[in-house]
Amino acid sequence: MKQFIYADNAATTKLEKAALEAMLPWLSNEYGNASQPYSFARAPKKALAEARAIIADCIGALPEEIFFTSGGTESDNWVIKGSALSDSAKRATITSAFEHHAILHSCAAIERLGYPVAYMWPSADGFITPDTLERYITDSTRLVSVMFANNEIGSIQPIRDLCKVAHAHGALFHTDAVQAVGHVKIDVHELDVDFLSASAHKFNGPKGIGFLYIRKGVDLPSYADGGAQESAKRAGTENVASIVGMATALKENCDTLADNQTHIQMLEKELLMLLSDNGVCFIRNGGNYTLPGLLSLSFSGYDGEAILHRMDLMGISIATGSACNSESTEISHVLQAIKLDPALAKGTVRISLGKYNTKEDIKDIAVALRKIVNGN
Ligand code: PLP
Repeated sequence: MKQFIYADNAATTKLEKAALEAMLPWLSNEYGNASQPYSFARAPKKALAEARAIIADCIGALPEEIFFTSGGTESDNWVIKGSALSDSAKRATITSAFEHHAILHSCAAIERLGYPVAYMWPSADGFITPDTLERYITDSTRLVSVMFANNEIGSIQPIRDLCKVAHAHGALFHTDAVQAVGHVKIDVHELDVDFLSASAHKFNGPKGIGFLYIRKGVDLPSYADGGAQESAKRAGTENVASIVGMATALKENCDTLADNQTHIQMLEKELLMLLSDNGVCFIRNGGNYTLPGLLSLSFSGYDGEAILHRMDLMGISIATGSACNSESTEISHVLQAIKLDPALAKGTVRISLGKYNTKEDIKDIAVALRKIVNGN
């Protein structure tokens, strides 16, 4: 067995070598501030413009529609809170009960300021349907925010159809696509979304950097006030190295998307087959349209936390629920939202495979799970 197997790619991913190499000059000799007018600032300014264009191209956007942020959390906060502060007469927000806490806690913050928020419940297999949104939406809905793919169970939402419902009622639409960008094809114009959040460390880029797509012509108040960076909407000296690393990683993942998907889906199938062949009893959450490689597996009568620690002792990193919630031993809000039987929910682990996983990893994961669950 390998010394270390990483199977928690939904929590974070390994930095792409090309991204690291692309970052290095901006952390050493090319330290100029892109906002300055002299020639030493020309290279970082050009690097930022190129990175913006590359990222825009990867998601079918225009460069001026990409705003650099510190990651998914900031992008989500910006949309939810910024939209509440916009001068629209419409005050209501609709989201889903199984969003990431970056959305849910931002919604709680605007609720405390008196803005109404409604929470849609997903189906048992983890989907928000357009019919559900039709039941919640009113003419005073300003913003609908539904994640592209759930980070605990992987279910991919019908974003285009949900967006249609929102627009038909004059509401704007945001999707938290942090788990999806760089892993499934995304074209903001095909989806017709107004806002989209992404985070580099989920697609083999560096941590602490991400972006928010804001459709041209849609008004969103500034997130950070100060200098004129990011069209004066998100002030602060740009993190050139991380932005260049993010663009390099995203381009690499988008260029190899089909191959990565095929590889990861093959590994996923192999793992499920090995578990079944070895008589390991489990149920898989998240329905039949999920992110490649994200497996939420429930072992009835077992403790997910204990499985995680025993896997860890065998050198395998997996998760129970969301990485951002690792200190909580309660049943995750996602598993509660899909109303999973508590005995199954307690015995749930998340295995998230990435492009660097191998068939050998899968064999070792299956053997480890068999030992823990079946005791042999
Ligand atoms: N949204 C989703 C769906 C996530 O999975 C995560 C991270 O796990 C975030 C937002 C937060 O992103 P970041 O870690 O870049 O702040």
